[in-house]
Amino acid sequence: MKYITEMTREDIKNIRLIVLDVDGVLVQRGTKIKQEGNTTTLETKRIAEKQIEQIKKLNKMRFHININSGRGLYMLQEMFREILPFTSLTYENGSATWIKGKIYQHVNSFDYLKDVFPKLQKVKHENIKGFEPKEFIITIHCRGRVSEIEEIMKKEEKLYSIWNGEAYDIGIKKIQTKAIGLIDLMKILHLKKENILVIGDNYNDAEMMSKAKIAITADKTRVSGDFYVELEGNQLPADVMMEQIIKISEI
Ligand SMILES: [Mg+2]
Repeated sequence: MKYITEMTREDIKNIRLIVLDVDGVLVQRGTKIKQEGNTTTLETKRIAEKQIEQIKKLNKMRFHININSGRGLYMLQEMFREILPFTSLTYENGSATWIKGKIYQHVNSFDYLKDVFPKLQKVKHENIKGFEPKEFIITIHCRGRVSEIEEIMKKEEKLYSIWNGEAYDIGIKKIQTKAIGLIDLMKILHLKKENILVIGDNYNDAEMMSKAKIAITADKTRVSGDFYVELEGNQLPADVMMEQIIKISEI
């Protein structure tokens, strides 16, 4: 694995689509959520102005931008409002993609999740902070692991339940993944593997990173890639990566 500043103009000559994960890449990890009775309080994170400018610049150069996240559409639209005219949003771990107001649904999880959802809602544990509002997957934010949730999920052979250190992400094994969303998006945009660059930082990014010509990891303790970015101080991984792409494209 090479450090990102070793990436050259030659490496990215065929790249047309830059796929960015959000948490741990474009914003710091961590979701502030609180649920009391029927009231959910959820913080919307902001993308820094510098990253908005970088994305605008990349789009002017030749690149399509795709955000591929486990977050819900309403949240991503709010975060990327300023750049929506040229940014597609693949949300809830590959469940669907929003492109200029049109939604392409990649996965229908209703039958798979409808029975387990009420079981999970019945679990009471001091570690549980709340269920993040989602349409196609289940995301339960917790202060630490909850064995009752894991016991329920063990019996669900068709479902995955990924603990990422701050939440359980629950969806359909092999079907409801960021990679499936990316593969469908590539068909919609008529792009091939050689046209794709992906940056991600977590276990749920590994498979989609394997579908790209160039994979960049923002946390090499969790996923590997062709290049890596270190989490150094305050500079976000997406910032360092976009800086490098802009630099080598301008030569
Ligand atoms: Mg992430």
